[in-house]
Amino acid sequence: MIHERFDAIVVGAGMAGNAAALTLAKRGLKVIQLERGEYSGSKNVQGAILYADMLEKLIPDFREDAPLERHLVEQRFWMMDDRSHTGLHYRSDDFNEERPNRYTIIRAQFDKWFSSKVREAGAVVLCETTVTELAQDAYGRVIGVKTDRYGGEIHADVVVLAEGVNGLLGSRAGLRTTPPADKVALAVKEMHFLPRETIEARFNLSGDEGTVIEAVGTISRGMTGMGFIYANKECVSLGIGCLVSDFQKSGETPYGLLEAFKRHPSVAPLIAGAEVKEYSAHLIPEGGYKAIPQLYGEGWVVVGDAAALNNAIHREGSNLAMTSGRIAAEAIFQIKSRRDPMTAENLALYKKMLDDSFVIKDLKKYKDMPQLLHIQSQNFFLTYPQLVSKAMQNFVRVDGTPKVEKERTTLRSFVKARSWTGLFGDAFRLARAWR
Ligand SMILES: Cc1cc2nc3c(=O)[nH]c(=O)nc-3n(C[C@H](O)[C@H](O)[C@H](O)COP(=O)(O)OP(=O)(O)OC[C@H]3O[C@@H](n4cnc5c(N)ncnc54)[C@H](O)[C@@H]3O)c2cc1C
Repeated sequence: MIHERFDAIVVGAGMAGNAAALTLAKRGLKVIQLERGEYSGSKNVQGAILYADMLEKLIPDFREDAPLERHLVEQRFWMMDDRSHTGLHYRSDDFNEERPNRYTIIRAQFDKWFSSKVREAGAVVLCETTVTELAQDAYGRVIGVKTDRYGGEIHADVVVLAEGVNGLLGSRAGLRTTPPADKVALAVKEMHFLPRETIEARFNLSGDEGTVIEAVGTISRGMTGMGFIYANKECVSLGIGCLVSDFQKSGETPYGLLEAFKRHPSVAPLIAGAEVKEYSAHLIPEGGYKAIPQLYGEGWVVVGDAAALNNAIHREGSNLAMTSGRIAAEAIFQIKSRRDPMTAENLALYKKMLDDSFVIKDLKKYKDMPQLLHIQSQNFFLTYPQLVSKAMQNFVRVDGTPKVEKERTTLRSFVKARSWTGLFGDAFRLARAWR
């Protein structure tokens, strides 16, 4: 047992854990952070888009030395069928601003840098250390953690669980349940390396400008899921993910989907001739607001993916992780400053502060979306993308057919596939879940 006592133990050195440890250390608390990976970032997978605002709140001058890839000037949304995509692109020179709003990053490099800031702030960071269980007293109060290091029990006033989506520690201690298969997606990702000029020519970029493509449609074969293609400086991150329960039901494999995605005629030219250097797979919490577990208890709080804080509709996760980590640390600091104990009653402050933030407000707004997309996945991810593609082709193809006839054909195809009741029902359900 390590006899030194800490104010706080942070489990995990991902976005949430680093944000929490940094904030606690900056506030002068004695904090130890434990990470099972060789270094912060070695176990982490992300697309990855970094949202600057949330990082700025932690490290205002991060642009000076953070390993950033490209700042985003464009976002593309694709609705795909097997041979085409219908796209919505938003590009603006406004994003070529002095303090860009979003960047692409590579997590292994970014997290290592983030962790160096945590150390500089005064936290003890121990990597290659797995927390095996929470240490609890006779009343079930969390008093520290047990690790796989010899004699590695460590005690603190509070434990911040930032252990990522699996949340095994919390589950083992009975503080939360393991997320069910219909509330988590399994995503696979590859890094395709190309010369910088090739990426810029293929994605219509100059300098450090970047673009990201989010894609839905037949690529997920009727399962709830999506693909992504992000341009970095010298590589393209490309991946696809679907709900685990959908994979189980359909018998499809993530690798099979990824291969088909890469072969799609809209995607293949973007990565032609690239060298694939990395392949990774990771879970994403996708249950939304209704899947958020208990966020605090006697001597503990849970943050980031471990708390299922992920906005699947907007593809935001790391920013919710950073914000929840920071807010948890601020709450702990306030309790500590009052010399109050880390009881559940006092730690409820974290939940209150999180409820007031964009994190819970956004997840609450979309609280019915995950279930709607899951139940209606065949329609939203298969039927409609095929119909939209046919409609677009009918619209742009010039073949002597009168336009009125073309419009009737398109309308008939929608009604045949979904019926009038189905169409109005889908629109109504979508609008209600979105509002
Ligand atoms: C393919 C993919 C693409 C994504 N794209 C984006 C994107 O573009 N933008 C975005 O904002 N979000 C994205 N996300 C989501 C984002 O990656 C997560 O929301 C974010 O990483 C959550 O941070 P976290 O710190 O909670 O968890 P993690 O980053 O998973 O960190 C958890 C850490 O805890 C450590 N750990 C776990 N158990 C233990 C233990 N027992 N002892 C010690 N250490 C432990 C792990 O090794 C890990 O380092 C994506 C996710 C995936 C999978």
